[in-house]
Amino acid sequence: MKFGGTSVGSAERMRAAAGIAIEQGRRRPVLIVVSAMAKVTDLLLDTLRHAEGGDRAGIEENFRALRARHEEACRELLPAEFQEAAMSGIGELLAEFERIAGGILMLAERPPRSVDEAVAIGERLSALLIAAFLNSRGTPARAVNAAHVIVTDALFGNASPILEHTREKAWAVLASAIEEGVLPVVTGFNGATADGRPTTLGRGGSDFSASILAAALDAAELWIWTDVDGIMSADPRLVPSAIVLDEITYNEAAELAYNGAKVLHPRTLAPLVDKSIPVWSKNSFAPEKPGTRIVAKLASGRQTRAVTSMARVALVSMEAAGATISGTQVMARALDALARANVEVLALSSSSYRQNFCFLVRGEELRAAMESLESALALELAHEYLKPLEVDENVGLLAVVGEGMRGTPGLAGRIFTAISQASVNIIAIAQGSSELTIAIVVRRDGLEKAVRAVHEELHLGNGASVS
Ligand code: ADP
Ligand code: ASP
Ligand code: MG
Repeated sequence: MKFGGTSVGSAERMRAAAGIAIEQGRRRPVLIVVSAMAKVTDLLLDTLRHAEGGDRAGIEENFRALRARHEEACRELLPAEFQEAAMSGIGELLAEFERIAGGILMLAERPPRSVDEAVAIGERLSALLIAAFLNSRGTPARAVNAAHVIVTDALFGNASPILEHTREKAWAVLASAIEEGVLPVVTGFNGATADGRPTTLGRGGSDFSASILAAALDAAELWIWTDVDGIMSADPRLVPSAIVLDEITYNEAAELAYNGAKVLHPRTLAPLVDKSIPVWSKNSFAPEKPGTRIVAKLASGRQTRAVTSMARVALVSMEAAGATISGTQVMARALDALARANVEVLALSSSSYRQNFCFLVRGEELRAAMESLESALALELAHEYLKPLEVDENVGLLAVVGEGMRGTPGLAGRIFTAISQASVNIIAIAQGSSELTIAIVVRRDGLEKAVRAVHEELHLGNGASVS
């Protein structure tokens, strides 16, 4: 089971999360993976930015907020006889964070490896508190730092697991604890390289931690506890009429996550597919509700399931200046450069006649994207075989997802019409070759409106299939 930031965001929420784990633990062995308390990761990162900028007052203020938040949770959560040990554990972790922030302050630089080490302290704090609470309730539990279990590559900030090594450690550290009757409370979000350097799996990565461990330990099921009733036909914050989907396939859920549905980290499902480990997305605020079950195949096919969006993206366009240069070759070189810089291309669209093409990248990867393109294509740009690269950050991505869209004529037309009727400009279109997703790039200021218009046009809020 994985509990997200809001599901462990206060003493009260930690109590509820532990209650769920205790109850389910009576029926079968349970392992839990926990996020940092809500907003703590942002606070830690913000502190490190203050440190890099030499802003001591900013650091001090954040330290106080961090300390207050966890000490208050500790006081409210634990009976007196468990307080002292937990408080000193919190003190040690905060001191570790302060030490790294102090180093960054001195260097005036944030080495990615130190950032990963520091930011994982949020998860270590919440794991410590929840394990202490479980122990105080008579359920033997142990906080486990995933740096000792999840082995990753060295791509700091966005590492990938090395599954074979992780499996060995997971059995040695976690399965043996479970066998002893101890419930492991593992930190989400972090891992370490084989030689012990700390890493993290990308923002929102605790979902991924849980799925890595579920796969490594051959879990019967993975339950992801969050703050909504399950995976919905749209983000309920954007579309109030969105409904909870009772079942969804791995492919659909992965496409939704990949195209911006924050309810799952994009890489969560990959480790589970081979073993067909079923996943539930459930609401820790309403555990009695069924939630969404994610499975390999649906009993009844429905055409479209959900619409999702991503606001912080950028469209990069390139165009050959004449026919002397092969657009295909430029495209190949550009994609190769992006791949080497670890930039993900979210959508790609091209026109052969004008030899131009554009692709969409995440806002936070734009700088790396531009640097890699400009260096890989430096000569073509300098000799003006290529027009200067253009960047449009005033765009957003909308995606409609559903297994049953394959070979359904007219669907794309209805989606485009709905967006146009909402007076939103369509900038680019990319239908995935899987035909599971239609992705559309629109003007940023029309994104939310377009999402609502598509949700309405496809009757996604009825749960009925589109006809
Ligand atoms: P956690 O901290 O539990 O990991 P997140 O904030 O990462 O939770 O993800 C849950 C949030 O995802 C919800 O509060 C909701 O606003 C958002 N969300 C976006 N798209 C969807 C969707 N299609 N279905 C459900 N929630 C969604
Ligand atoms: N705490 C991390 C984050 O906020 C990981 C997670 O919660 O999934 O990104
Ligand atoms: Mg999340």
